[in-house]
Amino acid sequence: MLFRSLATDPNSRSRSVHDKRPYNVAVTLTLLHYLCVVGFLTSLVILSLNPKVDSVELLIGFVVATGVTWLIAYLKRRSARCPLCKGTPLLDTGASKHAKAYRLRPLNYGSTAVLGILFLHRFRCMYCGTPYDLLKKPSSQRYH
Ligand SMILES: [Zn+2]
Repeated sequence: MLFRSLATDPNSRSRSVHDKRPYNVAVTLTLLHYLCVVGFLTSLVILSLNPKVDSVELLIGFVVATGVTWLIAYLKRRSARCPLCKGTPLLDTGASKHAKAYRLRPLNYGSTAVLGILFLHRFRCMYCGTPYDLLKKPSSQRYH
């Protein structure tokens, strides 16, 4: 499993993230967007099985919700920056990826990082290859 390389990487210790808020906001909104996509697909099936006006309204509602949550999640993922390289680890750009960057196919690197934060509170920056642990306290907050 690819997540294993994140969970136990003997060669590099994961770093802490000082300001976790942008990451938590971006992951929460991206999760909301994924749920809207699931709702959209579900309403598509409902419409094909039950072609009525109510089904069309449900579909239109989910199309709008999916679009709006995508836009908000995109902006939040773009604002979550890597503390070291100032790249956007939750959003793929055209920039070249680090040798240690990884993704769960068919997802892209950014979506893999979102899932990593969601399930493991860890991610690896795809540009500089630095592993981060969101549960780890910054050194300035330790031993107090
Ligand atoms: Zn980075």
